[in-house]
Amino acid sequence: MDFEAERARLIEHLSREIKDRRVLDAMARIPRERFVPEESRHLAYEDIPLPIGLEQTISQPFIIALMTEALELTGAEKVLEIGTGSGYQAAILAELTRRVVTVERLPKLAETAGKLLDSLDYRNVEIRLSGETLGCPEEAPFEAILVTAGAPSVPPELISQLALGGHMVIPVGSRYLQELVKITRQRKKNRVENLGGCRFVSLIGKGAWGQE
Ligand code: SAH
Repeated sequence: MDFEAERARLIEHLSREIKDRRVLDAMARIPRERFVPEESRHLAYEDIPLPIGLEQTISQPFIIALMTEALELTGAEKVLEIGTGSGYQAAILAELTRRVVTVERLPKLAETAGKLLDSLDYRNVEIRLSGETLGCPEEAPFEAILVTAGAPSVPPELISQLALGGHMVIPVGSRYLQELVKITRQRKKNRVENLGGCRFVSLIGKGAWGQE
């Protein structure tokens, strides 16, 4: 299979809606086929989410591009991602900014993603296992936060890890269907925008969903 050609075709498809060239260029540099299980490599450049084991998924490329674009990264930020999963979104963020801290609750996924990101030579990504509090309060504040699992509501513990003027993108809704919400932290009232519907696996933990 010609992954290069497939990747170019996907980027072309995404470029109809996604206007930030930096995001498209970053995605054009990353071999998504390496982030999906062997048996679904042939689907790596379809615009669909794919299972990555342990009931988790690598998100749909369009949603990934939309969320990344909404962060409005300039390259100077320290970014927090919640839900490392395959590591694909972390690689995109690493292409676009100074430093990425990504948190995962399942050690097996964190380990696989860590090895892959090392082998692709990403030196500005740090993977951490999640602790008591959502996110990574030890490293806060972050100029941008991307949550790649669905929450029942916007967790205040994450707002407090967001720098003033920074953007957070998070799916909020029920266990099975959410709205993508963009929050800009402001001195008084935070700005909230709705980016459309989506479907993510659940964000688990204190301040989010129970274990099932
Ligand atoms: N961004 C990933 C896809 C993530 S799927 C990618 O590019 O492949 C959502 C991930 O969030 C799952 O791996 C799940 O284990 C993780 N997760 C769920 N709740 C979490 C929490 N509270 N802290 C950290 N990770 C969490």
